[in-house]
Amino acid sequence: MTEKVLETEVVVVGGGPAGVSAAFTLGRQKIPTILVDRKPKEKIGDKVCGDALNPILTKWCYDQVGLPQPDPEKKELMEIAETIVLRGSNPRVILPMGLGSATVDRLRYGQKLLHAAEELESVSVMAETRVKEVIVENNVVKGVKVLTPEGEQSIMSKIVIDASGSSGVVRRRLPLSMCTKFPQKIPREEMIVAYREIIRTKEPHQFQKGLYLTYEKELEEVMPGYYWFFSRGERELNIGLGYLMIEENLGKNIRELNQSVRDRYFPDAEILASQGDQIPARMPLPSLVHNGFITAGDAGALANPLNGEGHGPALFSGIKAAQEILKVREEGKEYTEEHLWGYNKWVWSYFGVEFAMGIGIIKFIFKFGYPEFEWLIEHGIITEDDINTQLYEPAKGHKGMLKKVFKLARKPRVLMGLRKTLNHVEKLVKIAQEYPDIENFDEWNRKLEKELETEL
Ligand SMILES: Cc1cc2nc3c(=O)[nH]c(=O)nc-3n(C[C@H](O)[C@H](O)[C@H](O)COP(=O)(O)OP(=O)(O)OC[C@H]3O[C@@H](n4cnc5c(N)ncnc54)[C@H](O)[C@@H]3O)c2cc1C
Repeated sequence: MTEKVLETEVVVVGGGPAGVSAAFTLGRQKIPTILVDRKPKEKIGDKVCGDALNPILTKWCYDQVGLPQPDPEKKELMEIAETIVLRGSNPRVILPMGLGSATVDRLRYGQKLLHAAEELESVSVMAETRVKEVIVENNVVKGVKVLTPEGEQSIMSKIVIDASGSSGVVRRRLPLSMCTKFPQKIPREEMIVAYREIIRTKEPHQFQKGLYLTYEKELEEVMPGYYWFFSRGERELNIGLGYLMIEENLGKNIRELNQSVRDRYFPDAEILASQGDQIPARMPLPSLVHNGFITAGDAGALANPLNGEGHGPALFSGIKAAQEILKVREEGKEYTEEHLWGYNKWVWSYFGVEFAMGIGIIKFIFKFGYPEFEWLIEHGIITEDDINTQLYEPAKGHKGMLKKVFKLARKPRVLMGLRKTLNHVEKLVKIAQEYPDIENFDEWNRKLEKELETEL
C-alpha cells in the first residue's frame, strides 16, 4: 500500500493552548494549516492542570486576534479569584500575588478554542494522529510523519510549529546537528513533576474564591516545590503539588505527598479526577526557531519556573509564533532560522525577563530553606510590590528590597544570600533584555550559561 502524502503550508503539532491559538491566528489569515493531535477530538484540551488562568491574558489574546475568551455561563470559566496569595507553612505568612486570576475548565475551554480554529476554512484538524518522525532535508524541517487510525502518512509543509507540550516531540526528533542553539531534550532536573486532584467537599471549603500557593511541611521532603489550593466553586477545588525533579527528589511518592495534605485539609472530600504530568521549570529555550521550525508553549519551556503557570504563556506564545510566520510570509521570505529570529527576541524580552525572578527564588529556597524565605515575607522584606516590580517593571531593579535589608542585620548569612539572589536575578534580566542578533548568539549564550551556573 502506498503511503498517503498531504501538503500544507503549516503543520501545528499539538492541540493544547499553544497549538490552537497558533492555528486560529493562521486560519484567520487564510493560511493552509493542519493541526495534529494524538488525542481523540473530543478529548483535545483535556490537560492535567491546576486550572488557574489570568483573564487579563485571555483578554489580550481576544484583542490581538479575536481568540474566544472562557465564558462563565458555559462553565468554561469556573470562578474569578478574589484572593491570590502565597501562604507560608505558618499561616500568618501571606504574600499577595497581585494581578487577577481565575479557574477554568480545561476541557471545555480547550474544546471551544479547537472548534473556533477548526471553523476557519483553511484549518483542518487531524485527531488521533501521533507524530512519529520529523522530515528533515539539508537542515530544513520539511514536514512530519504521523500515525493515524488509517495508517502512516507524511504531511509536507513549509514550517512545523512544535506545540506538543512538555514532551517537545518535534524538537526531540530533530537531528542533533540542528540542536546547537537549544537542547534536543530538556534535562530532567529542569522539569517539575506535578500532580493534581479535582475534589468536591461536603461543606463549603475554606479557600472560597481563592488561589493559594502554599508551603506545607511535607515539602521538606521534596525541595524546592509548592502546593496549591485553587477554588473552582463553593464546594469544588483543584489541589495538588509540584517539585523539581532533581536527584534528591527522585523516587518520592507524589500521590502520597498529596494525600497527606488532602487528608489534613479535606478528610471527607470526594475525588473527581486525579493525574500527574511534567512542566518545564527553567528559562525559555535559548532559541525557539530553526529552518522550517518554531516552537511555543511548554515545548519552548515557556512556563513560569516559580509556579508552573504555563496556560497563559502557551496561548500568548502560540499567537506570537503564528504572527512571526505571517510577518515572514508577508515579506515574501522563506521560513529560515534567520528570518524567524524576531520571535526569539520577543520571547526573551517578555518571558526571559519574567522568569528570572522565579529562577532566583528557587535557588534561594534551595539554599536557605523555606523558613528563611518565609521570614523575608513575614518581615516585609519581600512584598507584593517587589514581586510585581520584578515581574512587570524589572528595569526598576530591586532597590526597594535592598533598602529593607537593615532588618537582616541579625541574619548576615541570609542577607548575603538575598544580595546574591537579587544580583543574579538582575543579571539574568539584563541578559534577557539584551537578546542578540543571530551572529552574536554564541557569545550571548555563553554569558547566559555562565550566569545560570551561579550558585548562591
Ligand atoms: C499538575 C499541573 C498543574 C498545572 N497548573 C497550572 C495552572 O494552574 N495554571 C497554568 O497556567 N498552568 C498550569 N500548568 C501548566 C499548563 O498545563 C501547561 O503549561 C499548558 O497546558 C501548556 O500548553 P501547551 O499547549 O504548550 O501544551 P499542552 O497543553 O500539553 O498540549 C500539548 C498537546 O500536544 C499533543 N501531543 C503531544 N505529543 C504528541 C504527538 N506525538 N503527536 C501529536 N500530538 C501530540 C497532546 O495530546 C496535547 O494535546 C500545570 C501543569 C501540570 C502538569
